[in-house]
Amino acid sequence: MNPTIEINLKNLKKNWLYLNALSKKHIETGAVIKANAYGLGSNEVANALWEVGNRSFFVATTEEGILLNKILPKNRKIYILNGYDKNYKKAFIDFSLIPVINSPLNLSSFIENNKNNSMCIQIDIGMKRLGFQKDELVKYIDIIKKLNLDLVLGHLTTAVKPKNIANEKQLNNFKEIIINFPTFRKSLAASHGIFINNNYHFDLTRPGVALFGGIKDRNILNVVNIELPVLQTHFLDVGEGIGYGLTYFSKEKKKVATLAGGYADGLTRNFSNIGFLYHKKIPCPILGRISMDLVTVDITHLKEEPKKLTFIGNEQTINDLSDIANTVSHEILINLGNRYTKQYLN
Ligand SMILES: *Cc1c(COP(=O)(O)O)cnc(C)c1O
Repeated sequence: MNPTIEINLKNLKKNWLYLNALSKKHIETGAVIKANAYGLGSNEVANALWEVGNRSFFVATTEEGILLNKILPKNRKIYILNGYDKNYKKAFIDFSLIPVINSPLNLSSFIENNKNNSMCIQIDIGMKRLGFQKDELVKYIDIIKKLNLDLVLGHLTTAVKPKNIANEKQLNNFKEIIINFPTFRKSLAASHGIFINNNYHFDLTRPGVALFGGIKDRNILNVVNIELPVLQTHFLDVGEGIGYGLTYFSKEKKKVATLAGGYADGLTRNFSNIGFLYHKKIPCPILGRISMDLVTVDITHLKEEPKKLTFIGNEQTINDLSDIANTVSHEILINLGNRYTKQYLN
């Protein structure tokens, strides 16, 4: 049997309610569930969020939007962050998918094919990734205002550092541009942006990773639990190496457990020789390189021989892992891969 990933939908719902409570009552809280809800399963996640009152769902691609349409009731909104795609002309119309238009070219394609449906625009306030540039927007303001404009979006580059001056600068850029859209709804903050302060909230917030526990805040709960089964235990004698490339040599006799989980299961090779698995609260150091399907850990100090060790849980959250791997919690989630058997806790 493949190892199990337990996805705690109760905690997911609590996280949404907490994020919702951080902004004023009249401000809507949406949910970003692109990439199959950060790998955790968009159907189950979307249904759970619907139950607590979420009505605006953001995904990256049209295909993701089409899948969501199948499971959500009609009075939801599904936003496609990567913009309008005329290859899906019929789906956009039939399912009322709302494209986030990011450029003049994308705008003309939308107008040509779909102009009676709802749409959003994103303005580039500093990331230089997607969105209308300030100077080019001027030419299109009147055209855009005649369309069914649902929302004006901006996206922050540095919200993870609330005091960074880029935030205030980008907030001001956003404010300067939205003067042109006084009667339309606006959205700026993703997960980290919500925590900067309520000047960043506008009419709708767009948390993604925080819903899944991927932000350090004492009220954000862990959503993912993974325990890996021990396949065998053995001893490592003084001077013996372990794993591919023999990157670890033991100076003393050690007891080693080999577990079913490797870099195909989100134990990135960056954790080799520096990461831990846990037996209850006791850390067990990873010894040697992590392989695709297996990991070897030191259990010399354990009083009992464990059947399983914890990879992700309250002892070691996705935030702890992103610190060790020098990445973001988003990537830790996405890297968990498809091999686990998903078990949802309702
Ligand atoms: C992914 C994304 C979000 C959500 O970001 P999190 O950091 O996961 O909260 C919000 N807005 C846009 C435009 C995004 O691409």
